[in-house]
Amino acid sequence: MESPDATANKEDEASIDLLAIVLDTNPSQLIVRQNPQNLTQILEAVIAFGNAHLMQKAQNKLAVLSCSHYTTEFLFPLPGRQVELRQIDAQYEAFSLVEKTVKQQLGSILMNAPRLSAPCESLLAGSMSMALCYISRLQRNVPAGVKMHSRILVITGSNECASQYMTFMNVFFTAQKLGIVVDTCALDKTLSLLQQGCDITNGQFLKVNQLDGLLQYLLWVFLPSPQMRHKLVLPPTPKVDYRASCFCHRELIDIGYVCSVCLSVFCKYSPICTTCHTIFKTPGPLPIKPKKKKKIDKN
Ligand SMILES: [Zn+2]
Ligand SMILES: [Zn+2]
Repeated sequence: MESPDATANKEDEASIDLLAIVLDTNPSQLIVRQNPQNLTQILEAVIAFGNAHLMQKAQNKLAVLSCSHYTTEFLFPLPGRQVELRQIDAQYEAFSLVEKTVKQQLGSILMNAPRLSAPCESLLAGSMSMALCYISRLQRNVPAGVKMHSRILVITGSNECASQYMTFMNVFFTAQKLGIVVDTCALDKTLSLLQQGCDITNGQFLKVNQLDGLLQYLLWVFLPSPQMRHKLVLPPTPKVDYRASCFCHRELIDIGYVCSVCLSVFCKYSPICTTCHTIFKTPGPLPIKPKKKKKIDKN
């Protein structure tokens, strides 16, 4: 008779693990501006990490997306055509295919990128939406009876961009609904929005202090599948900053006004909600009650 553990193992073996890596390749990231060589180092680590994921199980799938200040492109896999591959001794073809494709694609993206006069923020939320679309497309084509576990890993050295707050939140809650885990590896600063996303989707947030050990960090924290993570000792999750950004200026605020109809957040009182156009009564000249509409005492 088989033990429940053995049955679970068999199921695990038949399942597909899909890892979608969203790699920030924006040249205005601080770590890249300080030393352009860093981007190469990050890329090498990501390729090795992606191949390590493929190595774990024959059914595993990998997707790598490049996210920059003006576009999101697939680095791997490429639709339709494949790069020409010459067999290299002692290297598995699937691994060299990943390496060649990713490097070639990123090279052409960086060559064709428009010149920047000032640092520009990365379109991280948009790239994550694209990863979600890709995952849900693959999910639809999975043969019956086979389970697919999907996750998104964001690797970025960019700053927080509160202007993308709405898109981020839509991505996080969609991922949560679809059971997709969002992991983040921050290379420069702690990102509170992505931290919220990891928390919402049960993912892992890690801020890497030393770029030299990036591959080790990736292999240690992000290689094991989320189902395995409770058995491992991983870095403790920091306290998540759950501040919202106001819909009027896209800035993170501590205290704000919330529309009682559509729950939009504003940093200043406005008589008409700009999202749902509800009209509110103007408060008197000297309001005694706090105008904060989050928790109004109805007594
Ligand atoms: Zn505002
Ligand atoms: Zn409203």
